[in-house]
Amino acid sequence: MAHESELATGASTPENMADKEVLKTARTEIGRRSSRGRYDRETVYQILDEAWICHVGFVFHGSPFVLPMAYGRQGDQLVLHGAVNGRLMSSLAGGIDVCAEVTLVDGLVFARSTFHSSVNYRSVVILGRAVLLEGEEKVEALGAVVEHLMPGRSADARPSTVQELRATAVLSLPIHEASAKIRSGPPGDAEKDLDLPIWAGVVPLETRAGAPITAPDMRLQIGAPEYARHYRRPGRGHEEDRLPI
Ligand SMILES: Cc1cc2nc3c(=O)[nH]c(=O)nc-3n(C[C@H](O)[C@H](O)[C@H](O)COP(=O)(O)OP(=O)(O)OC[C@H]3O[C@@H](n4cnc5c(N)ncnc54)[C@H](O)[C@@H]3O)c2cc1C
Repeated sequence: MAHESELATGASTPENMADKEVLKTARTEIGRRSSRGRYDRETVYQILDEAWICHVGFVFHGSPFVLPMAYGRQGDQLVLHGAVNGRLMSSLAGGIDVCAEVTLVDGLVFARSTFHSSVNYRSVVILGRAVLLEGEEKVEALGAVVEHLMPGRSADARPSTVQELRATAVLSLPIHEASAKIRSGPPGDAEKDLDLPIWAGVVPLETRAGAPITAPDMRLQIGAPEYARHYRRPGRGHEEDRLPI
């Protein structure tokens, strides 16, 4: 947990990196519904490992942008990649501040009132500065993105050529100044609404893979590998929001 001086300034120290908790600063301290906040790395990593899309916010030439991206996690680093000449990559490579967020939606919460209706979710916000990776670090980090999205695929797919690697920028964002927020469970209706003749409850939601569709230009008779036939994200959603099997 951060010290008071850090909370005041948003400053961070390298020794925090080894902590079991991410750094809570004035910027990442959850204000609204603070009881839903989590700062332990275990929770943060579980969310990051189950999800696979992040939204990266940054300012480019004075305008704010938020772009969806795939990502990977290497220990306490979030790995992003993209075309070297892309707007995000070229800006990030220059060392600008970013805010990355990841969200898992576990359910829709139907309260008796629209006011108390909500969403069950697990989300992470990371603030920091991404650095450009080169050489072997870059190749390994790129592998982490592939394995995050498609576990098992690296062993089968053709590796990137030197030219392909040159066209790809890979960035590493420390999972350091961050926060997680979780809402779970039933609606929190007002006592005065409990006798209303209106259904209330949760509709669980989850991402499920369908059956693989073989590419029409396949020239060889190769069946879909196990990791494609039985694709699933690690974790099965929040305990209270699990879909019945
Ligand atoms: C799927 C989904 C739908 C949502 N829908 C709405 C909506 O319609 N309206 C609405 O007002 N809010 C919604 N929220 C909650 C929203 O993300 C904010 O938590 C909330 O709006 C409070 O914002 P704030 O600016 O007061 O945050 P503060 O609590 O003041 O934010 C301070 C810091 O807390 C951390 N933080 C805040 N929110 C989150 C979060 N969700 N995950 C991780 N860290 C966080 C960040 O580090 C942030 O910098 C939704 C969240 C999710 C995941």
